[in-house]
Amino acid sequence: NADTAMYHAKAQGRANYQFYSEELNRSAMARLDLERKLRNAAAGGEFELWYQPQYRACDGQAIGVEALLRWRHPQDGLIPPDRFIPICEDNGMILDIGRWVMEKACAQLASWRNAGLAPLRMAINVSARQLRDTRIIDLLRAQIERHGIGPGELEFEVTESSVMERPDEAAFILGRIKALGVSLAIDDFGTGHSSLAYLKRFPLDRLKIDRSFVSDIEHDCNDAAIVSAAISLAHGLGLEVVAEGVESAVQWAQLKALGCDELQGYHFSRPLPAEQLEPLLRAALNLPAAGATPAGPQD
Ligand code: C2E
Ligand code: MG
Ligand code: MG
Ligand code: MG
Repeated sequence: NADTAMYHAKAQGRANYQFYSEELNRSAMARLDLERKLRNAAAGGEFELWYQPQYRACDGQAIGVEALLRWRHPQDGLIPPDRFIPICEDNGMILDIGRWVMEKACAQLASWRNAGLAPLRMAINVSARQLRDTRIIDLLRAQIERHGIGPGELEFEVTESSVMERPDEAAFILGRIKALGVSLAIDDFGTGHSSLAYLKRFPLDRLKIDRSFVSDIEHDCNDAAIVSAAISLAHGLGLEVVAEGVESAVQWAQLKALGCDELQGYHFSRPLPAEQLEPLLRAALNLPAAGATPAGPQD
């Protein structure tokens, strides 16, 4: 009868609610656990900076590297940035982590330069939160002076959504960063939701075409059309274009034919720890191997 039905519905509702709140509890607990582990991570030296090379499309010469953060938890192993950076952006930890990344990347750039691995550009990913804190200017200036970093040797990668959150503030800070000789790239281009008008508001040097347009470029003519249009747009605005996520020689050839300036992806190299990347970089910069006899006249 109706009463029994009502009773069942209530019980069911209660059960659902309980299930739902348990689920919510579990994810909240998991997040708290991750936040707690993150707090120890910096102090425990669990962060690592890996580097993925970038190449000139026309001849395959290495021209730069992108610094990519890694977290090696003693029990959980290597945790990818997509799992913890959003949390650090929420709770503000990205400010300290971002500072560590900047210091580490600048020191690595200088160390490679001193070892003859040059010219090389070091690209660093910067979150919206970091662009809201003007202290980044002083941190940056200190690193540039400390390591004698020249114009164009350092690049900041920002996403469209991160600069469009507060466009006026972002334009101001990016202008000051640019004035320090740091170049600017828009990361994951094509995945945001704002109009293209923002491109002329910021002092940009480079567009990085998101890898979702590259992954199937040889089969999907829509992707090819989007990439081709993005390259024309960028060149028309005086920007260079980097394609992300290049995984095959066919993609390389096609991107080169479309006029893409630079390439990055697993086809060339995955992100690697500095020591592992070094020999590869030496070869791709067309430099002699470390310890090899230099070419040319000897006495
Ligand atoms: P991103 O800046 O767009 O970096 C490119 C991502 O694509 C990297 O993932 C890289 O490993 C991956 N990738 C490169 N080539 C290929 C390819 O050929 N195929 C495929 N499938 N993937 C490729 P990763 O290292 O997991 O980083 C993910 C994101 O985390 C980055 O995307 C960036 O948004 C963020 N991130 C990484 N390091 C930092 C950092 O130091 N600070 C900040 N704020 N964000 C960072
Ligand atoms: Mg990036
Ligand atoms: Mg990207
Ligand atoms: Mg990304």
